[in-house]
Amino acid sequence: MCPITARGIEMWSPQRWDEIVGNTDLKTALQQYVLNSPPNTLVTGTKRSCKTRSMLLCIQSLVCHHPQEDLNPCGKCEGCQAVRSPRGEHIELFRLGRYGFVHVDCNVVTAKELRELSMKWEFDGEKTIIYLDEVADLGKDGRDKILMKPIDEWRCTWFASATKVTKPKDKQGRPRRGEGLSGAVINRFANLLTTTLPKPEQLDGWIRQRCLEWEIEIEQEAATIRRLIERSQCRVGHVKQPIVVAASAGRVLTLERVENFNFRPLE
Ligand SMILES: [Zn+2]
Repeated sequence: MCPITARGIEMWSPQRWDEIVGNTDLKTALQQYVLNSPPNTLVTGTKRSCKTRSMLLCIQSLVCHHPQEDLNPCGKCEGCQAVRSPRGEHIELFRLGRYGFVHVDCNVVTAKELRELSMKWEFDGEKTIIYLDEVADLGKDGRDKILMKPIDEWRCTWFASATKVTKPKDKQGRPRRGEGLSGAVINRFANLLTTTLPKPEQLDGWIRQRCLEWEIEIEQEAATIRRLIERSQCRVGHVKQPIVVAASAGRVLTLERVENFNFRPLE
């Protein structure tokens, strides 16, 4: 079998709970949702700290037709495939297994589409999860308020994630216009969780494991991994980038590539 391509690594997302590194509390909470049932949940945290990917794994475990005893999704059924495949332009309800889900990309969704969503009673149901990805973007122009009523009244579960949801404040401490949610919308999420970055030793093991699976050789292994952890500031999304480049350049990750990698555009 051919090894995973550079693009494949770039698109890679954890398919098992043990592939999530760091985020211990978040992972425990999300696993509890799979075992029991999920409440409305808002996850915030640094860019590239695995918010969306952790939530998608949770949704996949809930949607999966054949969930494993260790709570991992099977990865093969219709439900798993629907969560993993890219979304279309339209907001749709995928009702395939134990749970149905709706994925909303808040960076692109319009006020008109959100108003339509708030009329879609077929989306309401105890076994439906509506995921608002990059939810803070809705606060820029008041689009967040359109969903207040459905978040309050529908029986379905709302998941949301963003880097930060509080609005910037002016000198008098009043919230300024811009990205972020109104307090009334934030209050509608019973559970507020944050991501936590992995410890260097956890990330060390994760890098070794992924490079083994992805057939990436690491030159001067200990030194290269140490610098990768330092330069990426423990952010998994950043760690992956020099590995992606290495995959398209002889599948060797060198110390030099890590030292010269420009992480700034990723900020
Ligand atoms: Zn499955």
